Amino acid sequence: MSEPIILSGKEVSASVYESLKDKIENLRNNQIIPGLAVVLVGEDPASQVYVRSKTRTFNKLDLFTKTYKLPTETSQNELLELIEELNYDNTYHGILVQLPLPNHIESDKIIHSINPKKDVDGFHPENAGLLATGRPRFIPCTPKGIMRILEHYEIDLIGKHVVVVGRSNIVGRPISILTSMKMVGANATTTICHSGTPDIQHHTISADVVVVALGVPGFLDHDMIKEGAIVIDVGINRIDADNDKGYELVGDADWSAVEDKASAATPVPGGVGPMTIAMLVENTIEAAENI
Ligand code: NAP
Repeated sequence: MSEPIILSGKEVSASVYESLKDKIENLRNNQIIPGLAVVLVGEDPASQVYVRSKTRTFNKLDLFTKTYKLPTETSQNELLELIEELNYDNTYHGILVQLPLPNHIESDKIIHSINPKKDVDGFHPENAGLLATGRPRFIPCTPKGIMRILEHYEIDLIGKHVVVVGRSNIVGRPISILTSMKMVGANATTTICHSGTPDIQHHTISADVVVVALGVPGFLDHDMIKEGAIVIDVGINRIDADNDKGYELVGDADWSAVEDKASAATPVPGGVGPMTIAMLVENTIEAAENI
């Protein structure tokens, strides 16, 4: 089989930013600068990297963002009070609470406290419900980014069998909804697998498109991919490496298996990751347009 087509999130996100320029300009002409409040609790190194990268992108596009850095020992009530303030602060059209939160804080309670019209992550039950009933408002950024990659490379899912591995509210569940939705570019027959699925290979081997979102490095191996399948690798896993950083980032698919069998695939890094930030920018701009 020839080398897979690389579905480059870097390339697609660049075209998204280009297409958002007019919208940003229009808002600016109406004295509106899209603003995002980011709340970061604790010292999780990966979260700090993600937040820095989001901030860099917002600054580059001349959008407004501020990160509220809170110590690990912040109480749930203190966090709820800050979110209440941000809900009423007109500077911010979007509020993002970086997950995971420390164990003493109930993530669900915090997510539920965000004004759903500022929930640019799309995790609030009102937004999750709208998506599940086929009338999406804010679509979670990672699955929205995946759909945008497929659209960009003109990969139509109609009539295809999509297998999603992972059922988180952030990735697996919403991408299973989006791919199976009755809409242009989607309309697939979607199977969702998880830790309770007895034989995941049985499903992935027949898939036209496999979305792996479980957080297990190299999980999708040679024996699990059909010849010519499309692989969307959401995983971002740090593994030890003999380089300056001491680690490298790898996905949930074994790249040698992908190279051998897939017809197209998202690389890690440079695949789904850059799209997540691009969709966060897009959702924040949509929130600013809808005030
Ligand atoms: P998560 O909340 O931990 O969910 C993982 C899901 O995978 C769960 O549904 C879990 O099953 C399932 N799972 C875990 N191990 C499994 C196994 N051995 N066999 C079958 N199913 C298994 O993770 P997440 O937030 O969805 O993230 C998944 C991966 O994507 C991580 O590597 C994360 O870093 C990455 N990620 C990347 C981006 C991006 O922008 N590229 C964004 C978000 C996440 P149960 O439900 O039964 O526990």
